[in-house]
Amino acid sequence: MMNRFVLAAAFVSLALAGGLFAQQKIAFTWDDLPAHSSLPPGETRQQVIESLIATIKQERLPAPYGFVNSKVIDEQPDLIRVLDTWRAAGFPLGNHAWSHMNLNAPSTSLGMWENDVLQNEAVLAKEMGGQDYHWLRFPYLSEGDTPEKKVGARRFLLDHGYKVAGVTMSFADYAYNEPYTRCMVTGDAYSVKKLEDSYLQEALRNLDYEHRISTSLYGRDIPYILLMHVGAFDAKMLPRLIELYRQHGVTFTTLQDASNDAFYRNDLNLSLGAAPDSLEEAMSLKGLPLPKHEALAIDLSTLCTQQHAQAAKP
Ligand SMILES: [Zn+2]
Repeated sequence: MMNRFVLAAAFVSLALAGGLFAQQKIAFTWDDLPAHSSLPPGETRQQVIESLIATIKQERLPAPYGFVNSKVIDEQPDLIRVLDTWRAAGFPLGNHAWSHMNLNAPSTSLGMWENDVLQNEAVLAKEMGGQDYHWLRFPYLSEGDTPEKKVGARRFLLDHGYKVAGVTMSFADYAYNEPYTRCMVTGDAYSVKKLEDSYLQEALRNLDYEHRISTSLYGRDIPYILLMHVGAFDAKMLPRLIELYRQHGVTFTTLQDASNDAFYRNDLNLSLGAAPDSLEEAMSLKGLPLPKHEALAIDLSTLCTQQHAQAAKP
């Protein structure tokens, strides 16, 4: 009797340490609608968005926000159909600034950046009908490189009724889309397989990484807001990514629901001062060291390039 109890208790503590019963919640968010990165030959923006939507529906994920840069639509008016399709699926849209302007660039003034945010609103208002599009995802996650820009941007967003869409999980999904296109151009199936393995491995590592930071800071998993991009490779990998998360006990929620957690209070209430809205920043404010981050097993910048072909030669 006693032995069985001890064994069971040992199993439970091992399982907890191993994250077997972890209940992590993730809110997917999608940036750079209607067009992110390059496309492999023969693929269209419309196909990418339809593939993403089909997976999200099939997997019964809660409706995710898509963050728009409408400059691309001014240049290629046909791409409005990508947003129409997203809206027809019942998914909301938010603001990612008209030209994806980087607030932290020395050449960007606060006024220029504010205009870029406002210039995006006509398309959002039209697409969202009467619904709220006042969520801002900072391009490059740049919230201002000077106190003046940082405070000014928050003041501007408050005055215009915005909330900030924070990011607490990101595994550099965007970095895979360029090499994927190159490998599809050269027809290098072996390298595509390497990309797929690496993408899933990085997603899993990042899940563990943020879990370790969150639990060391707060003794719990905060609900994570995951930064994703509407790239061709992301669309291809989404079914496997969701499966992987589910295998590790992850459940899914909306941006609004995740943002209600106390961690994001300064993102929702812009009258409060700027606070860290990444877990890494929260760690550094407390002077705590970040967990070790292993280097990528593959070089995304040279995969399927001339340089890569040279290196692969015996
Ligand atoms: Zn972006």
